[in-house]
Order: sequence, then C-alpha cells, then structure tokens
Amino acid sequence: MAHDPYSPCVCGSGKKMKFCCQDILPEMVRVEKLIENQPEAAEKLLKTLLQQHKDKEVLVTQLASLMTSRGGHAEARQQLVDFLREHPDEPRALLALADLCIGTDGFPASRRIVHRAFQLGVRQFPGGVAMLASAIAGQMARMGCAMAVREHLALAVRLAPQERRNSLLMQLANFESQRTIPYPFRGRFSLLDVELQDETLAKEEMRARKVSQIGCWEPAAILYTRLVEKVPQDGALWHNLGLFHAWDGRLKEAAAALHKAAELIEDYDTAVETEALAQLLDLEVSEESYGVVQQAVPVHSMSALLTALDNDPRFARVLSNDREEQEDGSRIAAEFELLTAPLADKLDPNNLPDVVADVTVLDNDGERGGKPRVLIVALDSEIDAATATFREVAGELAQEPEESDRSQLSRMPQPCRLFDWKIHHADKLGSSHFRQLDKARLTDALQQWLETPLESLAAKTPVDFAKDANNLVKVGGSVIVLDVICNRMGYDPDLSDIRSRLGIPAPSPIKAEAGQSITSLPLLQFGRLATDGLSDDQVIEFANRITLVRHLRLLETAIETLVQRPEALKKFSPMRGHLLRATVAREKNDLKLASKCFDDAREAAENEPDAFRTRLELDIRELSCRLDDPHDPELPQLLSEIRERYFIKIPEIEEVIREELVNSGCDHLLSQLEKTPGAAAGLWTPESEKAGSESSGKLWVPGQD
Ligand SMILES: [Zn+2]
Repeated sequence: MAHDPYSPCVCGSGKKMKFCCQDILPEMVRVEKLIENQPEAAEKLLKTLLQQHKDKEVLVTQLASLMTSRGGHAEARQQLVDFLREHPDEPRALLALADLCIGTDGFPASRRIVHRAFQLGVRQFPGGVAMLASAIAGQMARMGCAMAVREHLALAVRLAPQERRNSLLMQLANFESQRTIPYPFRGRFSLLDVELQDETLAKEEMRARKVSQIGCWEPAAILYTRLVEKVPQDGALWHNLGLFHAWDGRLKEAAAALHKAAELIEDYDTAVETEALAQLLDLEVSEESYGVVQQAVPVHSMSALLTALDNDPRFARVLSNDREEQEDGSRIAAEFELLTAPLADKLDPNNLPDVVADVTVLDNDGERGGKPRVLIVALDSEIDAATATFREVAGELAQEPEESDRSQLSRMPQPCRLFDWKIHHADKLGSSHFRQLDKARLTDALQQWLETPLESLAAKTPVDFAKDANNLVKVGGSVIVLDVICNRMGYDPDLSDIRSRLGIPAPSPIKAEAGQSITSLPLLQFGRLATDGLSDDQVIEFANRITLVRHLRLLETAIETLVQRPEALKKFSPMRGHLLRATVAREKNDLKLASKCFDDAREAAENEPDAFRTRLELDIRELSCRLDDPHDPELPQLLSEIRERYFIKIPEIEEVIREELVNSGCDHLLSQLEKTPGAAAGLWTPESEKAGSESSGKLWVPGQD
C-alpha cells in the first residue's frame, strides 16, 4: 500500500507522515515482520535505527516494549530515560516509562512520572492514560485505598476508547457492588465550590481543578497545599485538599485535611458528612482492628472423624452446597459449625448458641497431592480455643498443624466487632425467626455502641461526648460511620432514635435540581434526598443506583417512592419493582407486605409474553419467602397450586421444591407434594433431619437480582 505523505503517520504520533516516519518507513515495516518470529533481530535493528534517528519516539518506545516483554525492564527503562533527557516532553515515551515504573516500583514511588505522563499525554493519547489509570486502580485495590480505586477507574472509563469502555464500566460496576468496601467509598465525591477574593489565588485554584480532572492528584494537592497556607480558614479548600489526597491514595493526609475541613465548614450537614468521611478514612488506616483467621489441621480416617464430630453436641453439621474441587484436588466432605454452647436436644428457640468457628472437612483421594484436612475459620481472638476444641474431639485422628497452616483471611476495623455475630441457624425455626433474633441482638448492640468509648471521639462514649454542644459535628459524623459499619455487617437500622438520644439534629433534606443526575451525588447524601421533589427519571436512577450499592433502608425509600408513581414504575419495570419491594419487605421480616408484592407482581406480569415462565418464577419466589415461616398458614395451599400447575409440565421442579422444603426445615410439608395430600411422603432419611440449613436463597430462582 502506498502511503500518502500528507496522511497521518502510521506510527500514531498524529503528525503527517512526511514530517514523521517517512524516511524510516521501509525499516519499520521490516521491524514489524521481525517482531513476530525474530524479536532479537528486531531489537538489534531498532537499536541501529535509533543510533541514526535519535529523535524518533516510535523507535525508542518500540525498543523499550520489546525489551520489557523479554524481561529486560532495567534496560528498557534506561533507553526511555536517555531519550527523555533529550526530549523531555514526548508523551508516548513518558507514558511508556510511567507504565514501566508502576510495574516495577509500584504507583506510590512513581507518582511524579505518572502525573507528568498524564498531563502531557492526555490530549493526544487518552487511551494510554486510561490504561495507566486502570493499572493504578488495581494497585490501589491491593493497598486498600478504595476512593483511589474508584476515581482511577472512573478516569479510565472517561478516557478509554470505545472498545475498552464497556469492560471498564463492568469493572467499575463490580467495584461499586462490593459489600466489603464501606459504601460511601463506592460512589463519587464532589469538590466543594470555593470562593477566593484574590485573583491570583483563584487562578491557582482553577488550575488545581483542571489537573484533578485528568487524574493528577498529587499536583492538585501541591497547588492546594499552597492555597491553604494562604487562606487557612477556608473549610471548602481543606475539604477539596482531603479529596485530592484520598484519590491519590494518601489516606492519612486525606483524613487530616478532612477533619480540619469539618471544623471550618459552616453548613452543619456538610460538616458532618466531611467529618464522617475523615473518620471512615481513619478506620482504614487504624491499627485497632481484628482479623478472621484460618487454621488448617491435617487429619486422617475421614469417616471416623465425621462420626466423632456428628456425635459431639458442640458441632452442628450444616448443609454444604459447595461441592467444588479445591486447588489441590480435595473436596468438601462436610461442613460444621462450632458453637458457643452444646446444642440441646430440646432447643430453646429464643436462646440459641452462637457460631464460634466454621469447620470445613476436606477429603482427598490423594491423586493430586492434596491431603485430607480440616479448615477452621474464626476470629483471631477465638481461633486457638476453636482449634483446641476440634483437636480434643478429633483425638488421634488429627495431627499437629504446622506454623504455615495458619493464615489471615481478612482484617476489620475494631468498631465492626460489636456487630459481628452469627447465631446458629437451627433447622425448623425458619429464617423469619432468625431475623427476629438478629434484630433483638442489633438493638442491644446499638445500645452498647452508645456507651462504648470511640477512638474518633477522643476515647469517650458517644453519650458522654455529645454532652458538649461543641462536639456535635464529630458525634454526627460518628453516627454516619455507625450506619456505614452496620451496612458492612449486613444491617441497615434506622438511626433516628440514636440521633435523638444523642441530641443531634436529623439531617436536613436536599432538593435535587431539575435534570440533575442522581448518580453524581455522593452516596452519603442519598439519605437526605427529598423524594417528593424528584422527577420520575431521578427516582428510577435513585432506585437503580441503590440496588447496585445495596443499602436496605435507602432501597426502601427508593422503592416506596417508585411504587407510588405508576408512570415511573412502568418505565422501571413493574415486575422488577414489585420484586425489589418484596425483597425489602422480606429482609424487614414483613412477610405480609412481601406476599402483597408477589400479588402485585403477578398482576403486572399477566400480559407478559412469557407469562407461564414468569408465573413460575413468581410462585417459586413466593414459596421461598413463605418458607421463612414454616408455619405460614398459606403454605399448604401454595404448594398444592405449584404441584398442580407445574409438576407435569416441568417435572424437574418437583425435586427442586423437595430440596427446598427439607433445607428450610419444612419436612412436615413434603406430603403436600403428593397427589393425595396427607399421605406420608417417607422419602427422607434421618440424615436430612440432621442437615442444617442456612437461611434463604438456596433455591434456584430464575433471574435473581
Ligand atoms: Zn511517525
């Protein structure tokens, strides 16, 4: 193909061919051919070419990339550094060097070169900047800097070429739905408006915002640090400085700036949210934490071991759904819970033991080098005692573990400990009962929280600290942190009682502007949104956003608003709306409302194209929900309807339903599946009696949210 000398150069520089690579075009074609089969020859040719054309960026970046791919990182770096010494502003060489530095030294040691590459590369090579940003996001995730992960991913999405954007959007959505990350970190934060009288300072401030937009958060923070030295009483400046630091992965500096901002910002709710963010960042770096630990214990004689565990009332066998093979070829033979107290023959439903440790027994046929072993997972404070109890029961069937058999699975901030419990889920009591027990436990824990000293409140209890009116911002912040902690531990309680106990004002409502994107709001502000002022589209956006993030109380707000607006609900999908509402109602243990939602969903689905399938899905979901209360009077009727409607057309459904009944401790309902109700089913062995069940959701549910 003949190259038009005035078309853009093939090297991608954006210059016209005539003024770029025309003189080395034949050699470059040779290099391309050599790269595939003779990379050494390609490297040699590139070196020779570079001698003759010392200013050609394409030669040095190609050479560096060849060297890198054969592991010659140091040589590649030297080539790029030498080139940049002569041509310090060449964007592709900068991007290549930044990429190398991130890979070898990590992002924290590479900030300067990275941000220089961002600044000089973003206009011409946004895709290159996007690649770097997503690599940094990966490193930030490993370092536990969630805000930096999100912001770097969002930057990558903005700058990536169309063909990469979707996969980055998926990564971002995946990040935003991770419950182990405190939920405010999974959404955006916005810079506050700043008003500076001095024109020079105002210009500097604008410059900082501009470099922030292209991910240069260290340069932005440097500019801002100079500004806060000159205008130290401006809370908005400190707030934005805190965000720059957090996006740059400097959590301690971020927390310090945000605490300072919270002291200075006049608007109470903004100050409280800023303080909450600072406290959340403190928790991320705090030494005060506890861990979940796994202890492996080598064992032998599997069947004798299982008998020993089954015979000990401190161990409760739980249903194991996970039959997947482990890396070393071993398989789960059984799973147990080690309990705080022996399981009595006659259970007191309101006084069930807690689970101390999860015990997984792994069997192995020895084919792939794995050994039979038991994995004990417990909090670090409990692991020694749990291991000792297990070894006492196992006796000579267990061997002495090696030091390397213990590993840390995760670490949690200390304040989560108060909300970290697991009640043994006994058969036959139903999930609804456990939710009640959990709720009572949660109420106690919240009460205890009020009277527990907190690091964030100068080691005073919230009740004591709130007595001084000067502390209300800090106390308000700590209540938001409490909400975040509860959410992380799986609870979303209403905290208005806690607020009034502490004498802090209820958060004031925010009115969204017409046409404003709800996603652009920080998640911490969702709870303050005045729903009646939202447009239908905004309500839908609110519901979608919070479904992804998962916050039950906010989801309830969104869904209750949605079902009252027929047009919005229609746009959202009535079926999905009613089912989400049912999910919320079920979590709140309002089974009556949940069943009304299923009726509403059936009505909405009547004219759906695949009505039979949809009806089946709804019936099975309703069954799963009603099984939360094994003595729900509607259950027999629902089961016989399911039997009549589906067993002949879809025979495999019967097995699914049977399993679900057994798993939910509802063996007494099995007879409903027989043609003549009342006839004993008698299919179930004593093992199934013993098999424990974990709450809900074990059931196959088509298209679960
Ligand atoms: Zn060129």
